[in-house]
Amino acid sequence: MKLIIASKNKGKIREYKDIFEPLGFQVYGQDEANIHLDVEETGTTFEQNAALKARAIYKLSHCCVISDDSGLEVEALGGEPGLYSARYKGLQTEHERRMAVLKGLEGKENRNARFVTCICFIDETGEEHLFTGIWNGVIAEKEEGTNGFGYDPIFISGDGDGKTTASLPLSFKETHSHRAKAVKKLIAYLQAR
Ligand code: IMP
Repeated sequence: MKLIIASKNKGKIREYKDIFEPLGFQVYGQDEANIHLDVEETGTTFEQNAALKARAIYKLSHCCVISDDSGLEVEALGGEPGLYSARYKGLQTEHERRMAVLKGLEGKENRNARFVTCICFIDETGEEHLFTGIWNGVIAEKEEGTNGFGYDPIFISGDGDGKTTASLPLSFKETHSHRAKAVKKLIAYLQAR
């Protein structure tokens, strides 16, 4: 069965191919499926944004679609950067966005944070299924490590050894991350249907 990933991010498409091709899907990125579309993320939740992107592609293709939306929520910053993680405060680089989070937490004791991913899977009949993964942790005092991307150098997993995610092997993220947890739920659903 054909499955389109609602993304132009080659790394993300590769990861989804590795997971879903062994389950019997022919997996295509949206460009490979000839769907050239930029969907505005106008939702107020990760769930809404994931669904908006998946629906737009389903409308054009009428085949299975996967879309996801993720971000970092920091408790003492009222849940920011949240939906705006990729463009926090309009800052251009990941380093600048991480520094903005660290600055926002200066003098604050509560450094609790969590990564959230919501995956929207639309099946061949157009029915929508949402799967959310949450990864709890705290924000480090400073950047550390070079693995991963985004906020990994300042995120310390609640179930790790106190090091930032970017200081740990990538295999740690593959089993503990928000995305891994949401994917696991989707796989369980697909295997049971
Ligand atoms: P996306 O919706 O998966 O593209 O994620 C949006 C933004 O959230 C990214 O650009 C990152 O800034 C942040 N983010 C999402 N997942 C992660 C992660 O696993 N590590 C670090 N940052 C992440």
